[in-house]
Amino acid sequence: MKSKELFERAKKYLVGGVNSPVRYFKPYPFFVERAKDCYLYDVDGNKYIDYCLAYGPMVLGHANEKVIKKVEKQLYLGTAYGCPTEKEIILAEMVVDRVPCAELVRFVNSGTEATMSAIRLARGYTGRKKIIKFDGAYHGAHDYVLVKSGSGALTHGTPNSPGIPEETTKNTILVPFNDEEALEKAIKENRDEIACVIVEPVMGNVGCILPKEGYLKFLREITEENNILLIFDEVITGFRLARGGAQEYFNVVPDLATLGKILGGGFPIGAIVGKREIMEHFSPSGKVYQAGTFNGNPVSVTAGIATLEQLDENFYKKTTKFAEEIANALKELSERYKVEAKIYQIASMFQIYFNKEEVINYDIAKKSDTEKYMKYFHELLKRGIFVPPSQFECCFTSIKHEEVVEETINKLEEVFKALTL
Ligand code: PMP
Repeated sequence: MKSKELFERAKKYLVGGVNSPVRYFKPYPFFVERAKDCYLYDVDGNKYIDYCLAYGPMVLGHANEKVIKKVEKQLYLGTAYGCPTEKEIILAEMVVDRVPCAELVRFVNSGTEATMSAIRLARGYTGRKKIIKFDGAYHGAHDYVLVKSGSGALTHGTPNSPGIPEETTKNTILVPFNDEEALEKAIKENRDEIACVIVEPVMGNVGCILPKEGYLKFLREITEENNILLIFDEVITGFRLARGGAQEYFNVVPDLATLGKILGGGFPIGAIVGKREIMEHFSPSGKVYQAGTFNGNPVSVTAGIATLEQLDENFYKKTTKFAEEIANALKELSERYKVEAKIYQIASMFQIYFNKEEVINYDIAKKSDTEKYMKYFHELLKRGIFVPPSQFECCFTSIKHEEVVEETINKLEEVFKALTL
């Protein structure tokens, strides 16, 4: 059991044995040796069909040949310059061409940095302090947004992290997702004090929660009426729901958006994009400070270009079809085996909740049977399928899942049998 040994060794040198809390699950995580297409291969010789896909970026599957070739070439040309490159312009052009709200782009290194800077920009631009975020939304691991946060914060029981002073989060107002009245009330009570509303258009960090029909349009209207900036955190949905992300899919254009994951084609990246008039407030053209040694890193940017180039119509059609087929199978199986569950899917995102109620917000999601989810997870793992080890994450399909959808559905049937034992 090499993974077990590696985990023991890792614990001696790495906090909790892992470098991000979501990677830990009981009794210990498998350690990866390599990955190709839709498969992860661990150090013990096991092969897993991967529906976690590094929490989103690997939409082309692992080790995509075209990305590798371009990145390899770039490696020989240097890996960080501290000076601008043409490739940054090319990727920025591609982003502006695709994402409806994007007129200007600032590249950073992660989704966390992107939301942190987008919020600073909104505050700097409006001269207001308060921000509104939704219960259970995850916008990365920085102080202003780690309040009632999803993802690992929720899975590991720390939606509000110690170490963040009250003073820092007192300007973060929380409202439930999909609730129009709650937001109206919050805005009314804090009139002229709110810089922005930040939202995951599809909540991908408490599972997969879809916006109610018209809800995102409502967000657009109410923010516009109150001179509040609307930020779509599209770190997951960007380039995934459609070429232009959730804003294209739902036809709602925010003022700013944050991007990451897919944009870096498997390498670290993030971006803040938005209307020129607002974005120009970033330094050096404006006064809102934003900087980074690795911003616009040539390797990440090269991988991003090579990835976005491959996301054609066929990609969206197929990845959606794979997720749809699995979601339909989950629905059919949960009915047939009388397992109380709700299943949600949109484009290449899907998740099952072991829950009686329709999951429309964080409070309801939290009522899910997480023990049953972990049983489902381990039963899948035993059969060579890896989904995120938490009820509060989302599953993804890649373009390389074509061959394994049927196998997945067959294994799911075995898992449902095991769940009812
Ligand atoms: N926003 C959203 C919607 C995310 O899903 C994530 C990461 N899961 C982040 C921000 C933070 O991104 P990163 O992990 O790259 O810092």
